[in-house]
Amino acid sequence: MSNPINRELQATLDPQRKSWIDSANDAACDFPIQNLPFGVFSTAQQAQARVGVAIGDQVADLAALFEAGLLRVGAESNVFARPALNDFIALGRDAWRSVRVQLSALLAKETSTLRDDAALRQRVFVKLADAKLHMPVDIPGYTDFYSSKEHATNVGSMFRDPKNALLPNWSEMPIGYNGRASSVVVSGTPVRRPNGQLKLPDQERPVFGACRKLDIELETGFIIGRGNALGEPVACEDAEAHIFGMVLLNDWSARDIQQWEYVPLGPFNAKGFATTISPWIVTLDALEPFRVAQPVQEPKPLEYLRHAGEHAFDISLEVLLRPEGASEATTISRTNFRYMYWSMAQQLAHHTVAGCNMRVGDLLGSGTISGPTADSFGSLLEITWNAKNPVALKDGGTRGFIEDGDELTLAGWCQGDGYRVGFGTCVGVVMPAVK
Ligand code: MN
Repeated sequence: MSNPINRELQATLDPQRKSWIDSANDAACDFPIQNLPFGVFSTAQQAQARVGVAIGDQVADLAALFEAGLLRVGAESNVFARPALNDFIALGRDAWRSVRVQLSALLAKETSTLRDDAALRQRVFVKLADAKLHMPVDIPGYTDFYSSKEHATNVGSMFRDPKNALLPNWSEMPIGYNGRASSVVVSGTPVRRPNGQLKLPDQERPVFGACRKLDIELETGFIIGRGNALGEPVACEDAEAHIFGMVLLNDWSARDIQQWEYVPLGPFNAKGFATTISPWIVTLDALEPFRVAQPVQEPKPLEYLRHAGEHAFDISLEVLLRPEGASEATTISRTNFRYMYWSMAQQLAHHTVAGCNMRVGDLLGSGTISGPTADSFGSLLEITWNAKNPVALKDGGTRGFIEDGDELTLAGWCQGDGYRVGFGTCVGVVMPAVK
């Protein structure tokens, strides 16, 4: 581990550790005892949203565990009995790690406290299938980056010029823009097709109407766990200590609106209508065994963007599309987060270097994650090359871009030896535009 952690925290990552919750020991389960992702949930019986951790096919209610005196977090009040994770996250990394260690012990096969107490289990566990999952954090600010070299090259080729697809600044800094936090929604929230200005090639002026080139962007996002004061940059070497964890992120994009509006200040309405995130935040601690080297950076980044060691993560990613009424979804992309050119630490260092302050809960998107081949591209724009090569679906249909009623699902996981640390899914169904 590059971060100093103790033996107890290391033990939570032991691939051999099993839970007394059998479903958590299934090799295909996203939520084994090694994962312990944090979210916010409610049930039909208890409508008050509160903090939970996914384990197997269950959710452990941390507010109930705290009330039962089984979870200590260094705060007098119950920070888990809140409809967002911010108050817990604000307690700091030692608190996150302490809770992880305590939960791992309570859920381990050998520990009888919950395992052998049916009444207590009744109060603490809810079936994942019965839980309504909410936005896990209040997000004060959302930023989206553009850090996949393959994606930037593809988009630059289509929108500008294949010969100069990558602008000279791209390999010197993680390019980003300030997005809209207000329209970030949790998985399962329907997404309405946006209306906007469309500039058709055969007309001098734009028309107003429903987006005709609605797209996804396969991304991950990270949640800020520790802020920085205005004017005080976060050093690249320290940046990971400021990150609480990661989610899957779909940066829905209206390509026709985007192409007309993006010069000179970048995307606006093309992106601001919705961004979907997965409900479970996988902590950086849980991702530690899957740390790998990032691609070689040439030219060597400026001093403030340098960090020693490995700062990429081996996360398998997929996109599935299911038309309305279809029984089966089609996988339209398979790729991996490890190919991202700029690391999360570099993104955070760059974001703060001019003095911008981050706040607990801020969401920073990776940028579309595209691999080198068409079946590993992270957007339909690239997969179909602007609808020139439509993608074939299992039900016999094809897609250039998204149609109304389509359900888009992102999935992601880290493959361990006999287990996987998964993100669950990030789902959205597209509804028709406002008439
Ligand atoms: Mn994006």
